[in-house]
Amino acid sequence: MPKLKEECGVFGIYGHMAASNLAYLGLYSLQHRGQESAGIVSTDGNKLFHHREMGLVTEVFDEESISGLKGSAAIGHVRYSTTGSSHNKNTQPLLITYEKGELAIGHNGNLTNATSLRQELEIEGSIFQSTTDTEVIVHLIARSKEQTFLKRIIEALTRCRGAYSLVFLTPKALVAARDPQGFRPLVLGEVDGSYVVASETAAFELIEAKYIREVEPGEVLIINEDGLKSFKPFPKMKQASCVFEYIYFSRPDSFLGERNIYQVRKEMGRQLAVEHPANADIVVAVPDSGVPAAMGYAEELGIPLEMGLLRSHYIGRTFIQPKQSIRNLGVKLKLNAIKEVINGKSVVVVDDSIVRGTTSRKIIKMIREAGAKEVHMRISSPPMKFSCYYGIDTPVKNELIANTLEIDEINHYITSDTLGYLSIKGIMKAISNYSEIGEKENFCLACFDGNYPVKITDEKITNPQLDLF
Ligand code: SF4
Repeated sequence: MPKLKEECGVFGIYGHMAASNLAYLGLYSLQHRGQESAGIVSTDGNKLFHHREMGLVTEVFDEESISGLKGSAAIGHVRYSTTGSSHNKNTQPLLITYEKGELAIGHNGNLTNATSLRQELEIEGSIFQSTTDTEVIVHLIARSKEQTFLKRIIEALTRCRGAYSLVFLTPKALVAARDPQGFRPLVLGEVDGSYVVASETAAFELIEAKYIREVEPGEVLIINEDGLKSFKPFPKMKQASCVFEYIYFSRPDSFLGERNIYQVRKEMGRQLAVEHPANADIVVAVPDSGVPAAMGYAEELGIPLEMGLLRSHYIGRTFIQPKQSIRNLGVKLKLNAIKEVINGKSVVVVDDSIVRGTTSRKIIKMIREAGAKEVHMRISSPPMKFSCYYGIDTPVKNELIANTLEIDEINHYITSDTLGYLSIKGIMKAISNYSEIGEKENFCLACFDGNYPVKITDEKITNPQLDLF
């Protein structure tokens, strides 16, 4: 059940005759990461071509628009606004023409020092066209005195703090870059001898690209007619991969490192059952994102998993940002309880997270109205107490229910009989179980423990993800 909004998804391909078609398919596979706008910029080696609009990938592109995206290299972007409001002018990839020629950029993440950098650039005379933090990177590149495109990018990124997985396109090259702490994922693959980069491996599946490896934190790749070159220009920092990619954001069929997301989520459910068992007749998942954890929970305790909640997949964009009055209706439109499954039963309901608590409260009300004897809520992540500043659309912290209420108070508010959250230790165990390298890796857990891996320098950020709620 989506409660947080995903950030963005990026895609890039160099040296393929069907570049823009493959970019379209890649973006289609990344649609879950952003449903507000989509865009592709391509190049024929001389100039850039673009098509960007508000809407889903299938709404934004048709045969005509894709055939206008000429050439053998392309980058693409799906967006759910994190910083920057949802207007057409904020659609990505951003495209500029500056002294050195044309440049396009697609960004997944959020710069924590974007406001101060923007102020500094404006004082020096820069005029911004959009409200996105991504445009800050563009201005830094345009103002750089470095001689090569790559050096200008590196100089610009040296000034940026926070989370970025980026794709750049010029008429001659594709560049991919990941911030030194690796907040957001970025993977490298190959199809028909051409290199591809994408936010998730799910984008490779559809275009039958072979996964090569992750783009490493702090790595900058340049792909041009000379092939692929890798650079590590930034000082090494402690890795801080977003743990929420495992809990909710990434597609279950994607891999992060060695780990398949579905298997990790199922293991989270098993760990949850070990930490918070329940004596119940059935386990019910909050679809779709709660399903793998519910399977693990049910398997571990030997309780039947039933489809007690049905999700409609055909709501469309109408209810993405509804007014409060419509939002109340929205939950009912998205989910329905199957009375014949629930009536007279003691039910464990498994979800991946609780943000404000209002959705969980409505779900439990729905299950009780369907005749449940008892409702035990189980959450496959720890209590979310802090806002995200690295590209995930979370509300301000005092709107997060776990920031202001204790677990027994949350249990009372959402009207469950019992409530159990997976511990931080449990989540790390679930992630590590599916990879030998798990123990050695470092994760960002800031929305659970408040330990922000990158200091929030822009004090003006009072609402980290601006205007969505
Ligand atoms: S604060 Fe939370 S959502 Fe944001 S990057 Fe860290 S773990 Fe991910």
